[in-house]
Amino acid sequence: MKRLLCGAICAIILLALSACATAKPAVTSFEAMDTLMTLTVYGDDKVGDQLRSRIDELDSLLDMTDESSELYRLNREKSASVSPDTAALLKRSLQLSEALRGSFDLTVCPAVQAWGFTSGDYRIPDDDELKKLSEMIDYRQVTLDGDSVKLSDNTRVDLGAVAKGYAADCCGKLLEESKAQAAVLNLGGTIRLYGRKPDGSPFKVGVADPGNPAAYFGYLSLDGGTVATSGGYERYFERDGRRYIHILDPKTAAPVENGIQSVTILTDDGTAADALSTALFVMGRDRAIEYYHTHPSFDFVILTDDGTISLTEGITDRFTLAQGYDLRIETIN
Ligand code: AMP
Ligand code: MG
Repeated sequence: MKRLLCGAICAIILLALSACATAKPAVTSFEAMDTLMTLTVYGDDKVGDQLRSRIDELDSLLDMTDESSELYRLNREKSASVSPDTAALLKRSLQLSEALRGSFDLTVCPAVQAWGFTSGDYRIPDDDELKKLSEMIDYRQVTLDGDSVKLSDNTRVDLGAVAKGYAADCCGKLLEESKAQAAVLNLGGTIRLYGRKPDGSPFKVGVADPGNPAAYFGYLSLDGGTVATSGGYERYFERDGRRYIHILDPKTAAPVENGIQSVTILTDDGTAADALSTALFVMGRDRAIEYYHTHPSFDFVILTDDGTISLTEGITDRFTLAQGYDLRIETIN
């Protein structure tokens, strides 16, 4: 009888496991933060809606072009009492601006707007205007005291370089409280991986081909973390054969032109991953490698104009070049 019971229990467990292994994930796609997001969740059909609401909530606080957002109000009124999310992200962004001084700055907004990246009315500011704009970029003009924020007169804040990473972190917390076994949250190029896939295989994350962003030049096999990519291909305009991209050098207030095609960062902290992808793009290959050597708490994939992929040693074994791409791979130790 005992043996029979034991057999029956084993059979039930096996059945449950195989049901789990074949269970289809719940997939939700929607537009938020100016991009298409796709959430794939294994083992919990309900949490997808919660994740979406959380992302929509953050979007409505942080979208600096939306007149009803907290950020819009702060930029206009220069002094505001903000929600815990906005305060938390401002705090993090100030720390990151200090740590990544000169390459990431949350007060880049006036320059982003002057080039037309927020409105789509693209223009090229002249040298005088660029000089004035670069003087307006200075994270030290933002004062944060609890939930109360003050900006100096000419200062405006843009959290576009970190909002998706912060959203990835917030979603990670909701997943931990859910029944989900695994999830792949694609927040428009910022990808949060969670748990273990039912079949035990690693997550496969494509790295977009800047020349054809619908395709991937390579894949990363990963067990978790957040993957954030910055690339000029995400937003740019062209004049007289020259391309002007949406990633700006805070020192010059002008679009970056340094031979980088894209920077992909892998680390557990999504907000940091997002800030680092923007910052290392601005630094350029050599300074990015120097920065990595002094702060080796993340991995990167950098693609440069000369067709070289620079990979940190932590992910060399996890990277596979996609078929049909003839790119040189160098490992950064
Ligand atoms: P990402 O795609 O994460 O690299 O973020 C790029 C967005 O962040 C741009 O569209 C701008 O709104 C803003 N941005 C551009 N350059 C910088 C910079 N150097 N530091 C901080 N934010 C930036
Ligand atoms: Mg970023």
